[in-house]
Amino acid sequence: MVVQWFPGHMAKAKRALKEDIKMVDVVVELLDARIPASSQNPILKELSGNKHRIIVLNKEDTANPYITKAWIKAFHDEGIKAIAVDALKKKGINETLNSIAQTPIKDSVARRLNIIRPVRAMVVGIPNVGKSMFINSIVGRSSTKTGNRPGVTKGNQWIKIKENVQLLDTPGILWPKFDDEETGIHLAYVNSIGPKAFDVEEIVFSLTKFLIGNYPDALKERYNLSQVTDDTDAIIEQIGRARGLLVKGGNVDLQKTSEIILKDFRGGQLGRISLEKPKEMEGLNEYN
Ligand code: GDP
Repeated sequence: MVVQWFPGHMAKAKRALKEDIKMVDVVVELLDARIPASSQNPILKELSGNKHRIIVLNKEDTANPYITKAWIKAFHDEGIKAIAVDALKKKGINETLNSIAQTPIKDSVARRLNIIRPVRAMVVGIPNVGKSMFINSIVGRSSTKTGNRPGVTKGNQWIKIKENVQLLDTPGILWPKFDDEETGIHLAYVNSIGPKAFDVEEIVFSLTKFLIGNYPDALKERYNLSQVTDDTDAIIEQIGRARGLLVKGGNVDLQKTSEIILKDFRGGQLGRISLEKPKEMEGLNEYN
């Protein structure tokens, strides 16, 4: 395994999440738009049971818009509403808010007593997917904290977002889950797994290989390459040399070069790149 991951306190996190989910009508699951499959943790389905779920494909500004559209359709075909969001620029925030507001309330007590109560929502997702940023953009300035309520995990509060929507101020943190190498590597690319868990040179080798196969022009433009060949090692070397990243003796500093490529990818300097396509699109390659 190239990526090693030993999550701690999983049982505790799971219990806390389960308690919070019980309190809400809708779970807003944040996924990374570049890796919608790998940024899911299937435990959420188990924990949320038959609760209403909305998927937010966050960081859509960094993903290939054509592929993001295909993901939205794929989720729709499974009966799940998915929305492309850029939490930094607040794109897709209103649509998400409207979807939350339309959640049917399956509360037999409220219905029996004819009480109309606000929809309660919470945000969940793996580390670094943008949960805090998303909550900040959805909460905006107009909202108010509604004070501590019994039942909510200690320290958490409901925030009134609209007349009919309340959001739990603290997101549920899911841990990254991977049984296969590719998923672990994808999580490492997007910074959802700490740097100690993987070897940056190995990760960047596979990222560069993917870029050569799928987004050669992105590499060409960013690093001024005259030609992009299939030789991944040679391309990484060319990039390092062009940047003057050399060690004693004139060899390319592969560690530094790898760090730069990874940073460029994460920061969007290579353009809008999706690493995963929905099943329906597999085999298609005309989108780049
Ligand atoms: P959390 O760990 O899930 O709470 O993630 P944060 O909200 O702390 O965000 C992690 C990083 O992703 C930060 O550097 C954010 O600026 C960045 N980020 C969050 N949302 C977006 C987005 O929609 N687009 C881009 N490009 N970056 C985002």
